Amino acid sequence: MNRRPKMQRFPLKAFQAKFPDDATCLEWLKNHLYPDGIHCENCKRVTKHHRVVSRPSYSCDNCGHHVHPTAGTIFHKSPTPLTTWFYAIYLMSATRCGISAKQIERETGVTYKTAWRMFKQIRSMLAENEPIGGKGRGVEMDEAYFGGRRKNGGGRRLRTDKGEQYKTVVVGMAERKGRIVATVAPDAKSATLLTTAREFVLPKSTVFTDEYQCYDGMSRMTENYQHKRINHSEKVYVVGDIHTNTVEGFWSLVKNGLRGVYHSVGHHYLQTYLNEYTFRYNRRFDTQPMFLSFIKQVRKNAATQPASPTAEETAVPF
Ligand SMILES: [Zn+2]
Repeated sequence: MNRRPKMQRFPLKAFQAKFPDDATCLEWLKNHLYPDGIHCENCKRVTKHHRVVSRPSYSCDNCGHHVHPTAGTIFHKSPTPLTTWFYAIYLMSATRCGISAKQIERETGVTYKTAWRMFKQIRSMLAENEPIGGKGRGVEMDEAYFGGRRKNGGGRRLRTDKGEQYKTVVVGMAERKGRIVATVAPDAKSATLLTTAREFVLPKSTVFTDEYQCYDGMSRMTENYQHKRINHSEKVYVVGDIHTNTVEGFWSLVKNGLRGVYHSVGHHYLQTYLNEYTFRYNRRFDTQPMFLSFIKQVRKNAATQPASPTAEETAVPF
């Protein structure tokens, strides 16, 4: 039997023991951001630094110049303690379904608005746009419709633009046994789908789609894709290796997660939620705890503070 090394478990108690206070979190952040030591601007070399007791900063032993590890990161100028930030990241990493701002509000006492901002900031670190596939590799491609309600219910997906404008189109591409890319698209027209493939699927990949006519041009693209199609409308879902079960499974995961936990997501924020789900999915075979995969995304020059939640945040039911 083919056994993969399993991801290390990281129970809440172990997390709390490793990050008991703000000083420990700051020390971790400093070591993460300056793995080779802190290069002092004044001394023009890597020097020893010591923790400044009264501030979240470190000071050069030589000249006293201060360095703030949180500067330029998502933690920059946040009044929320680092321990709460780390806990929010822990929660987001530890659950398949994601965690709502309500839950962190209950558990840490920060306001809903603050919690919402924190999650948005954390998601902003998770974007990945590396292309997938390549020669001899299979990539499933499928589009899905998010938001609003399907008027006809059940059964087939609605393909036309009529009455569908209120839904957001998401294009998903999943490499078999590999990574997934999911991106919000303006529509599900042929030009859009083929351009998206060009952006994220490497040349010479074998691309599996369903019978939707807007994928028709796939095999004629200069990327030399090999195009294989499954005919869903004839109730044939798997013929040999021709299926889109991987990407469809991912849609279920995201839709169930958003329905169960977030209740609703504004169109403008859908991409960041997709980033969260793909980030976790793409690390499902990692051996390090998921928390470390998340926290190691912290970088300098992160996005600035996002806007407050708007009415739209609660406007689009899944
Ligand atoms: Zn110095």
